[in-house]
Amino acid sequence: MTPEVAAAGQPCDRCGTFSPARKALGTRQLCAACVEHVVSNGRFWSSRYATVLGAVLNPTATAVLLALNWQRLGEPAKARGMWINTGVLLLCYLAIIFSNVELPTPVTLGAGIGVAVVMGRGFDATWATLEAAGAQKANRFLPVVFTLLAFVAVAVVMVLTTPDPLFEP
Ligand SMILES: [Zn+2]
Repeated sequence: MTPEVAAAGQPCDRCGTFSPARKALGTRQLCAACVEHVVSNGRFWSSRYATVLGAVLNPTATAVLLALNWQRLGEPAKARGMWINTGVLLLCYLAIIFSNVELPTPVTLGAGIGVAVVMGRGFDATWATLEAAGAQKANRFLPVVFTLLAFVAVAVVMVLTTPDPLFEP
């Protein structure tokens, strides 16, 4: 590498401009202008909030929030991964709820908390960069409401699909 190239730096992964001081944000190395652009164009949930919400309510919520975070970061591949996690978790929970398999509560709770913690950890470094760059926090009330509404929806479906014992022959 010649001194001129070293001074010009490496191309930004978002805009391609050569920058001597690229910053890691998510999986990309961005120039200062792109970090500023990404940070100021969306609100994000902290990895801690996403983890706690998932551990307390359901880890599917963690996957959804992280998928939205990755979308807002402009990283469709990472977002897709989290949407796949969302689908898989949803199927697992629905299978547990609607099948006759009785898993002990501590097992499902423990597994759920573990999954939320692992997914949240995966966003820790990116959140640290976002926070340092002055990122705004996304609404922390709506995800709780949506998760509770999902619980209600599942409960309603369960009630509607469970045969009434009074009408059984
Ligand atoms: Zn750039």
